[in-house]
Amino acid sequence: MFRWRRTLLAGFRVHCNCAIEHHNISYKTVRSLSAAMGDKFKLPGRYGAGEKSVWVEYIQLAAEYKPAVNLGQGFPDYHAPEHVTKALANVTTGENPLLNQYTRGFGHPRLVQNLAKLYSPLIGRELDPINEILVTSGAYEALFSAILGHVDEGDEVIVIEPFFDCYEFMIKSAGGVPKFIALKPKPSEGEMTSADWVLDDKELASLFSTRTKMLILNTPHNPVGKVFTAQELQTLADLCKKHNVLCISDEVYEWMVYKPHKHIRIATLPGMWERTITIGSAGKTFSVTGWKTGWAYGPANLMKNLQVVHQNCVYTCCTPIQEAVARSFEFELARYNSPECYFFSLAEELISKRDYLVKVLRENGFNPTIPDGGYFVMADWTKLEYKIDLKQESDKYKDYRFTKKFAKEAGILTIPPTAFYSGGHKNLGENYARFCFIKKDENLQLTEKLLKEWNAKKN
Ligand code: PMP
Ligand code: GLN
Repeated sequence: MFRWRRTLLAGFRVHCNCAIEHHNISYKTVRSLSAAMGDKFKLPGRYGAGEKSVWVEYIQLAAEYKPAVNLGQGFPDYHAPEHVTKALANVTTGENPLLNQYTRGFGHPRLVQNLAKLYSPLIGRELDPINEILVTSGAYEALFSAILGHVDEGDEVIVIEPFFDCYEFMIKSAGGVPKFIALKPKPSEGEMTSADWVLDDKELASLFSTRTKMLILNTPHNPVGKVFTAQELQTLADLCKKHNVLCISDEVYEWMVYKPHKHIRIATLPGMWERTITIGSAGKTFSVTGWKTGWAYGPANLMKNLQVVHQNCVYTCCTPIQEAVARSFEFELARYNSPECYFFSLAEELISKRDYLVKVLRENGFNPTIPDGGYFVMADWTKLEYKIDLKQESDKYKDYRFTKKFAKEAGILTIPPTAFYSGGHKNLGENYARFCFIKKDENLQLTEKLLKEWNAKKN
């Protein structure tokens, strides 16, 4: 359980910028400073509502109040495979001093070669490591370079809700106009799975026009866990081809897919390679989210546009981490056909965690959607609403109020999913909380204990 300090809580109530809190500059000081300087230095309008971030707010919450379990931001609370962390240690102190210096801007040669080796058979074409792959500062920067490298003033971008929140910010900062369409859960009698969250085909088709430049797809999906089926991908692909639209496919959870579901890369559908940029993440692939290394691959003519953004905003990514990721790929590629290969063993390890968390949530009054991929569970908490006084929190959206109150009372931190919806559709996420399950078994067991205790207290 964790205690809330009144002063800090007051800070959250006015939605202050956490970075400001961190540096001990009071909100009042900032306000009077900006009053003195006029409007000249206010956030440029193109950043829209970019001032507020669920990550800044909830990571600060976790740091300040230390919930007993943190199932909020998605990262493992246990070690990555030993060969991965050892690779980094060996690189930095090894024989080649140049591995601590700048490397090739568009991607460290050993890493792009390994990425080409991994993905070529998966996409059924020989990837050119030099012209068709870009290494980036996490998948975030791959998204940034792909969006900023293609979206022009007034271009429309189709975004599937719920969506990883930075998509909206990036589109708007490029001058683009996001067009949202929500996955909606089909009414279901029994257990709900992520496959029950679907798009309405007519609504989808109606969003495409001559102004549409791009569609952003995320499969496996954060936060729902949906793994798009071949048929669903075909529908999206047909529309992209019909309207000459680019597809950005965010596949950072590509290895976290639970049997019998299969990850299908939309770039492999007929006529899609030419118009798809696929994004991956070493943080997700090797359970080292703090390494912040990602990549994008696609046809050279599209990748050129990402390179222009990258070469002027980032130029080159961390050399030792790229070398360590390259060595980690070599290690896994050498055992690719064995069950020990981390690309396959990770999903095996996660499925029992998923099932355990789903069972615990269900036994304690939540209605979870079973995810077919990724490492999050969206759980409907409305049957527990009578147990919690949401009026004690001041946030606009109910899920923010629920997750904050629940964290205070039960000691379990989760993420409010309205952060993944556009302004007009926030109501669709309000009844849910997102739980991350790539956590030690003991922490999932602690979650069960805390939930039971919380429920018992409330009866
Ligand atoms: N896309 C999605 C859907 C994500 O959940 C995340 C979070 N890791 C990212 C992109 C960014 O990944 P990275 O940490 O490699 O920047
Ligand atoms: N993708 C992770 C999540 O959804 C991390 C978010 C982040 O780093 N902003 O929790």
